[in-house]
Amino acid sequence: MPLDQTDIAALFDRAARHAASFRAALAAHLHRVTAGYADAVAAFAAPTPEHGMAPEEVLDELARRAEPGLATTTGGRFFGWVIGGSHPMGVAADWLTAAWGQNAGNHTAAPAAAAAETAAAAWLLDLLDLPRESSVGFVTGATMANFVGLAAARDDVLRRAGWDLEARGLFGAPPIRVLIGEDAHTTVLSALRYLGFGRDSLLRIATDAQGATRADAFATAVAASHGPTIAITQAGQINTGAFDPHREIVAAAHAAGAWVHVDGAFGLWARACPDRAPLARGVEQADSWATDGHKWLQTPYDCGYAIVKDAEAHRRAMTIAASYLPPVAGRERDPSHLVPELSRRARGFATWAMIRHLGRDGIAAMVRRHCDQARLFADCLGEERGIAIRNEVVLNQVLVQFGADHPAQARDALTQAAIRAVQADATCFAGGALWRGEWVMRLSVIGAATTDADIRASAAAICRCWRQVQAETDAPG
Ligand SMILES: *Cc1c(COP(=O)(O)O)cnc(C)c1O
Repeated sequence: MPLDQTDIAALFDRAARHAASFRAALAAHLHRVTAGYADAVAAFAAPTPEHGMAPEEVLDELARRAEPGLATTTGGRFFGWVIGGSHPMGVAADWLTAAWGQNAGNHTAAPAAAAAETAAAAWLLDLLDLPRESSVGFVTGATMANFVGLAAARDDVLRRAGWDLEARGLFGAPPIRVLIGEDAHTTVLSALRYLGFGRDSLLRIATDAQGATRADAFATAVAASHGPTIAITQAGQINTGAFDPHREIVAAAHAAGAWVHVDGAFGLWARACPDRAPLARGVEQADSWATDGHKWLQTPYDCGYAIVKDAEAHRRAMTIAASYLPPVAGRERDPSHLVPELSRRARGFATWAMIRHLGRDGIAAMVRRHCDQARLFADCLGEERGIAIRNEVVLNQVLVQFGADHPAQARDALTQAAIRAVQADATCFAGGALWRGEWVMRLSVIGAATTDADIRASAAAICRCWRQVQAETDAPG
């Protein structure tokens, strides 16, 4: 039985009420998942339902079963991983997207969805100050954006070597050299693998203390490279936030005929903020870029952007054609010609809404605020005895080490103990990582909800936890 209009309105209202009460509770909540995975599995475990249930009851049951196991990623004191905050504006636009049920594969089936992407694509190029003739594919995240950019790269470098990849495929093609920094994000390696480049086939380039690719090492490697070559750079290293020296690298790569692809999942947004943009100078000279909407732009999951300067290379690598679909040579921008999927979510609506809501000045202010808050975090923590900041805080990332005056092995144990104490305290959430062979606590300031007061309260809690760890370590017996 189809639902009648009253049922639909009541159901949608109920979903909105569940969502609002979750967000309100979270504001007061400790930053801790109440139920771990095993509890969450138990909460959902049930035999296959033999009979249906009324939609509002289903919704209540879903919320009841899920909420204890929901991460606190949308809260103001969540600093674990580089995860955006699903801004309420983006969420609301995304509800409409789901309710409208558009299949954003092409402009004939879903004109408004395709048009919102066209408009948002132009805004993105303007905000990120990238070549305005570039084409933009709306994908699920930076992993797929890297895949798309690198697929265009593969196509183009082979084409210039006289090999038609679309017709002849990859088997028997001239070898392609891929240059990539030692501290690249692991998902770029996945994207490369999908494209036929195994880990051992890559030329890894030395990086500096912050994880940025060294221009001199890159120049030497690319000058020695012959034949089709792809260079991959990074704008915003996942631990330190460091930027590769793009002006030098891109110039050396282009002199050698290489395609340059930039992984800028979050760091590319520095370009939308005048006082951080110098970090990403020279990035605009590259050939393709990957970035996320669901990180710094705060759209809900999942949303990323694959940007390719040569729109034809982009299309060639991704086009999906069939007689019942609009012609490939058509003038209109068809979303599915720029991404791997045909049927797809209309991601342009939430992107459009977030940019329209924040505006150029709002985006710049948010990026600046997060960077200033990272600095504030580092300053507050750095004053505490035994805590050391292990990176140059240039963007939104802070690496914290505990027991700085102890030998390396003790530092690792103390840092891991401090991370456990911070997670148990749950004033804020932060995780750990190995950086340059030692354990650090990673703080990523990137959520829309974070205030300066959140930073101060979190820094105070981290110091308190650290003192407690020391007291326990020093205690006799
Ligand atoms: C998050 C991230 C990725 C992967 O992006 P997803 O959106 O998770 O697919 C790639 N590179 C960097 C530097 C990242 O921070």
